[in-house]
Amino acid sequence: MSERLNEEVWALDRCSGCGMCVATCAKGMLFWDEEEHPSLEVREKALGLSRVNLDSCSFCPKTCEEGCPQLEEWSLLEPKEMVSVRAKGVIVSPEPNEVIKSLLVASKAAGLIDGALLMDLNPWTLQPIVRIARTVEEMTSGLGMQYLWTPLFDRLNEAIYEDGLRNLAIVGTPCASQAVRNLRSSESARLTLYRKAIRLSIATFCTGMYRRELVTQLLSQEKGIALHQIQRLSISPRDGYLMALLWDGSERMVAFDEVEGYTRRGCATCNDLLGESADLAVGALGAKEGYCTLITRSEAGTICLRNALSFGLLESVEEIDEAALSKAAEEKDRRKRAQAFDQLKLLMLDALRDPQKWVEAQREFSRLYGTKETVQARKERVCHDSCAQC
Ligand code: SF4
Ligand code: SF4
Ligand code: SF4
Repeated sequence: MSERLNEEVWALDRCSGCGMCVATCAKGMLFWDEEEHPSLEVREKALGLSRVNLDSCSFCPKTCEEGCPQLEEWSLLEPKEMVSVRAKGVIVSPEPNEVIKSLLVASKAAGLIDGALLMDLNPWTLQPIVRIARTVEEMTSGLGMQYLWTPLFDRLNEAIYEDGLRNLAIVGTPCASQAVRNLRSSESARLTLYRKAIRLSIATFCTGMYRRELVTQLLSQEKGIALHQIQRLSISPRDGYLMALLWDGSERMVAFDEVEGYTRRGCATCNDLLGESADLAVGALGAKEGYCTLITRSEAGTICLRNALSFGLLESVEEIDEAALSKAAEEKDRRKRAQAFDQLKLLMLDALRDPQKWVEAQREFSRLYGTKETVQARKERVCHDSCAQC
């Protein structure tokens, strides 16, 4: 077992759910059986009449750790260019997903990429999916990322090894771009093909990803909006609501307070709102009215933007509210941490009355302060979690 993933990410509820460790596991031992983090497959061996569990992770180069965005302290890549843009052509739209489609089409036409791995949504079941787009048609169809979680890198091996894509664009959340950045800086020879095959990372601004229960429970059961009525979702951090756009053209707003309970746990400690490791990031915040914001942070990102402008697929103006961007980025960090620290205080008060809660409080303390859970604390927690009243 990778102790670092287990102790520094999964045990502390810091997994962002990107799926990079699953894709790059040297022995194919990781899989998803629940939503908060991957699990390690247990393999057995017959030894006489008994069966023993094998430790598949011994003598392993631990490639699963190389790309994990939660194991590395990442630093901000300075913006090279910040502009307000909107998609132009058949559709004129300020929607980030439409802008991303224009960027992908221009990059494909210019030979910068040969395919893309992207988050999408099945429009009929509202099931989040990962798509591999190889053609312009595949890049322009689909809704794009709708804030419902799915592990983006689950189809990375298929794109590279089965489809033979060698100049991939990765389109996803800021943590997915951090994983790409880690992979690029890894020196592991086993990951060379991944490093060569990923050409571009595009991130959408992100305040958190939601579990699918957001639509099946909150929107469908509590708000009475049938799944087949919903066309797409959008987030307005500035105004503090999630909006469901319905097929009949009407809109339903839900306050952030109501949707926050459906956020993945790993997002609680994330402070990357603006895709600070991505070649290129796109989001509604800070843009001129009728546009969305686009930030490039690398040469590849800038070339991608230039191509889309010269093909006439994007239109840009140099007007950005930088103060709004910085404020929102700080706010994300401050708000999430403040909530978590409030919870910790309550937990510690509970722990004074109930010693059973003490282990839980220690674990939460470690998670918030980024300290490693001690072996003793972990043993106590595991014992507590699976207590058989012995
Ligand atoms: S240590 Fe090796 S086998 Fe175990 S999860 Fe990591 S890469 Fe896979
Ligand atoms: S953050 Fe990504 S790479 Fe890290 S443990 Fe979670 S799924 Fe794996
Ligand atoms: S908030 Fe967004 S970028 Fe941060 S961990 Fe969650 S999904 Fe990833």
